[in-house]
Amino acid sequence: MIETTEGAISLKTELKKIFGYDEFRGAQEKIILNILAGKNTFVIMPTGAGKSLCYQLPAIVKEGTAIVISPLIALMKNQVDQMVSVGVNAKFLNSTLSKAEIVKVKKEITSGEVKLLYVAPESLTKEENIVFFRNANIAFVAIDEVHCISEWGHDFRPEYRRIKAIVSQIGDVPIMALTATATPKVQLDVMKNLNMEGANLFKSSFNRSNLYYEVKPKQQAKKLLIQFVKGHKGKSGIVYCLSRKKVEEIAQLLKVNGVNAAPYHAGMEPSQRIAHQDGFLNEDIEVIVATIAFGMGIDKPDVRFVVHYDVPKSIEGYYQETGRAGRDGLEGKCLLLYSYNDILKLEKFNKDKPVTERENSKLLLEEMASYAESSVCRRTQLLYYFGEEYKQDNCGMCDNCLHPKEQFEGAEYLKMVINAVKQTQERFEINHLVNFITGKKNQNIKSYGHDQLSGFGTGVEESEFFWKAVLRQALFNELLLKDIDNPGLFKVSTKGFDYLHKSYSIKISRDHEFVTTGEEEEIEKSVINIQAYDPTLFNLLKGLRKKVAKEKDLPPYVIFQEPSLEEMATVYPLTSDDLKKIIGVGESKARKFGQPFLNLINQYVDENDIITASDVLVKSAGVKSRNKISIINQIDKKQDLEEIASGLSISYEQLITEIEHICDGGTKLNLDYYLDDILDDERQEDIFDYFLTSESGDLQEAIKDFSGEYSEDEVRLMRIKFMSEYAH
Ligand code: ADP
Ligand code: ZN
Repeated sequence: MIETTEGAISLKTELKKIFGYDEFRGAQEKIILNILAGKNTFVIMPTGAGKSLCYQLPAIVKEGTAIVISPLIALMKNQVDQMVSVGVNAKFLNSTLSKAEIVKVKKEITSGEVKLLYVAPESLTKEENIVFFRNANIAFVAIDEVHCISEWGHDFRPEYRRIKAIVSQIGDVPIMALTATATPKVQLDVMKNLNMEGANLFKSSFNRSNLYYEVKPKQQAKKLLIQFVKGHKGKSGIVYCLSRKKVEEIAQLLKVNGVNAAPYHAGMEPSQRIAHQDGFLNEDIEVIVATIAFGMGIDKPDVRFVVHYDVPKSIEGYYQETGRAGRDGLEGKCLLLYSYNDILKLEKFNKDKPVTERENSKLLLEEMASYAESSVCRRTQLLYYFGEEYKQDNCGMCDNCLHPKEQFEGAEYLKMVINAVKQTQERFEINHLVNFITGKKNQNIKSYGHDQLSGFGTGVEESEFFWKAVLRQALFNELLLKDIDNPGLFKVSTKGFDYLHKSYSIKISRDHEFVTTGEEEEIEKSVINIQAYDPTLFNLLKGLRKKVAKEKDLPPYVIFQEPSLEEMATVYPLTSDDLKKIIGVGESKARKFGQPFLNLINQYVDENDIITASDVLVKSAGVKSRNKISIINQIDKKQDLEEIASGLSISYEQLITEIEHICDGGTKLNLDYYLDDILDDERQEDIFDYFLTSESGDLQEAIKDFSGEYSEDEVRLMRIKFMSEYAH
């Protein structure tokens, strides 16, 4: 009945009744009708387009149980919960269930109550389950994330390769294969492997028109990142890095620079990982710095930016990860920091892989590099990768369209590369073709006798770099094709053959030249050291300090020490948060003395139209040495100072120096327990009074002034006590 018009209407009724939606999206209805008609169905839809509904709804309306194979146990539970919450009997079968639970689930399948059964591939392969399914009434089998079948997919899982054999054992049930990414090659691979060449293919457009794509050279990357993230203050974003170590480092970098960021990677404690993920979802955390382990199944609609701090391993991965931005159709900026060094690094990681895998990975990386270096519209390139033609000249939403490189007539060059592919019999990859065109007589060229052909060396005036760009642009213009079975190889399309005889104007452009320098990430020498402070502001601050000191009846250095004022006059802190990051200014000092200083700086910045450096100033995660933390902890526990020193294998004097640094850095320390033992009240007061009236608070001067009355250590410790009580 479903296939009649009347039936279609009843599908819509179910859609409303169960899911609460008025209309199907895109091809959903056609897909559902196709599987209900018992036909194999291949669904390729970008993330967020609504794939789940394509199997959930038919599972509900059709008699029997639909099996859904899904690789991620964590996501399975979510889906089951979701279905149960709308009153659908859904269950899962995986390694987390007890024996008793499995028996119960199977019973409900036999009685036909379960509509959707989510199964992990490993559970599907169990012999007892196969036998069970053979005798059950299975409506159809849906295979989610089906690109995992293909070695060319970005997430190959060998166990996926066994699915077809098992499904055939279960019986003659229709299959629905679903994925959010599939290049033509992966698509073919999947179809072959599942034996579903005759399946109906439903492929939606992969164009995410609200996403803005941009590639920047990875130079001064940390500074660039901070600037970018601060430019999106208050918005949710994801920063992807390749290694766990990098994730920790960048999360820390963002934190010390005042960004509410947290790390996420597989090496973290699960509880903490979940806490960070939840924090991100409910907006306690603005920016998640993550490895690609983060994001699968996370459905946060208002992620406003995705930054790739390191180059991703493939365009598919890149598309998938950037796809997490702007799911609600609103703003989504995608920034990739690119350096060819990253590509080389990734290639090195592949060194120990088996040959085919290594070759595959290398090709994927090369494609990533050409994406980044190309001056062709990013959208055109991404869609081309997924076998989709993008017809607009200017997408208006990528760096290459907004800031186009100069274009020039390409017909002659294009004909030359078509000719090169044709003459070498359509059997070679890009490097060989470039060598051929530029006339490099290497071993390979000679062994094929390619140096004897008329096209050899015809493009010697231009660089290899140039010809690579032309070859790729010939692909985008469909004059050349990539061999689907062997994607490294170039072929000539019919359009390309025609072009040789009857060419027309096609404009092309040169690639971007990314210079690789040694300073990709260096910014650690923070601006403070390089930039001189603003002397006018510095004097104003000093004057203010004097005034405040007088009001409070304290010596000026107790308010802020000179290095703090110098830094203020360098970076112009405008908020209390900015101020807290100034050297020697801690939380309590900012609260206690900060306001008049902030007022002064704000007024000064306004009056003088100053662009403050605090937006771009990069603070490195000041190495609070392990020693320092340990000293603070031990003082809190009232440990004897000699013991602390010997425990850390440093001298007593070194310890006092460390404590001075901690104190000058803005941390309050209570040394009373120790001082009370070595100095009586009267003597303590004596030194205290001295510091209260001292102009500079200079230590050497104080030691001299006391001329032997107190030991150097005593004076130093009392100064720490004094600073802790008055200055912090
Ligand atoms: P995918 O699996 O393709 O990434 P989902 O199946 O998770 O996408 O769907 C993405 C979102 O779209 C979900 O919130 C889902 O409820 C919603 N959705 C799906 N189909 C429709 C529809 N026909 N109308 C409105 N919302 C829909
Ligand atoms: Zn564009």
